[in-house]
Amino acid sequence: MALPPLPCLYCPPDGSLCSRCDDDVAEAAAAVPQIDLTDLRGIWADVYARQEALYARHQRKARTAWRKAVAGLDLAALVAAFRRHALMLDGAPAPGTDHESPQAAKHHKAELRKLARSMAAGFLAGVNDQPDYTGLLDAVTGALAASAGEGTAAALAVSAAGAGYGGFAWQKAARDGRQEPDQGTVTRTAAQIIAGAVTDLARVLTSAAIAGATAEAMLAAASAVLRKGLSVTAFLDQAMASAISAAMVAAYAALGGIRLVDFVTAGDGRVCGRCLEKAAEGPYSPRDYPGSQHPDCRCTAHPAAGFSLLPVAAFAAYLIQKAA
Ligand SMILES: [Zn+2]
Ligand SMILES: [Zn+2]
Repeated sequence: MALPPLPCLYCPPDGSLCSRCDDDVAEAAAAVPQIDLTDLRGIWADVYARQEALYARHQRKARTAWRKAVAGLDLAALVAAFRRHALMLDGAPAPGTDHESPQAAKHHKAELRKLARSMAAGFLAGVNDQPDYTGLLDAVTGALAASAGEGTAAALAVSAAGAGYGGFAWQKAARDGRQEPDQGTVTRTAAQIIAGAVTDLARVLTSAAIAGATAEAMLAAASAVLRKGLSVTAFLDQAMASAISAAMVAAYAALGGIRLVDFVTAGDGRVCGRCLEKAAEGPYSPRDYPGSQHPDCRCTAHPAAGFSLLPVAAFAAYLIQKAA
């Protein structure tokens, strides 16, 4: 999701930009290296098409693994306990939310939110102990290993295209570039996925309580959260994008001695303020290169001005020779 730039004091409350900010963003956007995703040309069309397919494939696998991992958790028991703690009667709004003074209702809503959060967190903390939890970790590991391969292949393919070569053996390059992620990155991604699910689950519990949903409706809404696995999609996306650009940067550094890399913004017409800021702060040394700024961030890495792309020796093994 493209996040809007941070509003200033003069921006209207509807989220649109005041003329000043609009100019600032336009100006900043013009000043940083950028890729327009609606008008991808040449090798970049291949790079992004392959990456989108990779994201989709691994997100699907990870969502399946997630559903298996949470299948054994007793969601009905959570909903029942939450309703008990929230003093709910079936079919009636939670106490205080609708028929108290605005002040009391506000207080009770806040309390409901806290209760939902802590109960959802306790509930999903149990996912680590589920027999199929390792399946989720395996899915994340596989996704990040493939992303490293894809990033390495992208750096080589962009360099080959830059040097005027046509055919590039993507599959082979992506396979050769695969690299197992470190365990810390895998567990951190899994923790983000779980934390995101806690937020989503707490949100539906709270709004169902305030709306006076029946136990059945509340359970259905909570099940939908676990089934959809939106946090799996979002945080795996971000972790994969980070792994892809880290691999690109590593390839540029290791194979070409490229010591400065731009954070190139990529968007369909508008890039968020956070990404613009990262682009403006560049170029970066390989060790300081920032990760993906948010889920669905498609910003990418490219050698900074003054550095050429990788030499032929780096990608020669992947050129597809035309028959003589
Ligand atoms: Zn962004
Ligand atoms: Zn971005």
